[in-house]
Amino acid sequence: MTTPQLDRLGQHCQRLRLHRVEAELSTLLEQAAKKDLSYSDFLDEVLTLELRSKHEKHLAMRVSMARFPFQKSLDSFDWKFQPSIDPKVIKELASGRFIADGENVLLLGPPGVGKTHLAVALGLQACALGLRTMFTTAAGLIATLGKALYENRLEERLKLLTQPKLLLIDEIGYIPIDRQGANLFFQLISRRYERGSILLTSNQSLGAWGEVFGDTVIASAILDRLLHHATTINIKGESYRLKEKRRAGLLRTAPPLESPAE
Ligand code: ADP
Ligand code: MG
Repeated sequence: MTTPQLDRLGQHCQRLRLHRVEAELSTLLEQAAKKDLSYSDFLDEVLTLELRSKHEKHLAMRVSMARFPFQKSLDSFDWKFQPSIDPKVIKELASGRFIADGENVLLLGPPGVGKTHLAVALGLQACALGLRTMFTTAAGLIATLGKALYENRLEERLKLLTQPKLLLIDEIGYIPIDRQGANLFFQLISRRYERGSILLTSNQSLGAWGEVFGDTVIASAILDRLLHHATTINIKGESYRLKEKRRAGLLRTAPPLESPAE
């Protein structure tokens, strides 16, 4: 192939935004000649490469926009340690059907039982399904809404928070919410009601949400909307963090294997 033709192909790729093909053009052509690929096999290889690269790029972008606190998957979840969770229910959620149907998920349980881990894993799964996802903590969300209200941009912020197909709200119940915060939170829930899914985690049972929101009327209005179409998962059992600490403690206090003779 002549250099001007190679240059032209590079430019075509650029204009068509086939960036990966552009970057690997010479190698692709060399390999095709070496392997004596048919026209259809070559085209298949080129288009598959570009599609895969675009998919990876979009996924990385969605994951970064979601602002997860860390990345953990369902594969690294130890189901045996947490028998109160039915893996089938979580795997069904991972199919993303609840998001397509605009349903909600509530993960409830004491600290350390894997609520955030599962929330992140399901959020990553939503990203992999090509769905816009956003992760936030309840405290962060309420602070953002409060700031927007103060700056006269509440409407704009509520619209932004209505856009993701899945909004993950972590840690409801750790920090008490004042009257304004409860009001703002209610507005958000109403906005997303039957429009977009919410997955939230709480260390408090639903019966205690009156205290969390400092108002039983607003708490029941929030729960009424959240629970209308929802899967609630009550996680019981021991903290995984404590288990790991205990194991580390045991290792430290265990007698030394065999001290070398002196
Ligand atoms: P919670 O949000 O319920 O307080 P986390 O999800 O933050 O708990 O879990 C605490 C730590 O323990 C995290 O590092 C998490 O990945 C891990 N963890 C919790 N449960 C499990 C589990 N069943 N299998 C594997 N790791 C777990
Ligand atoms: Mg957590």
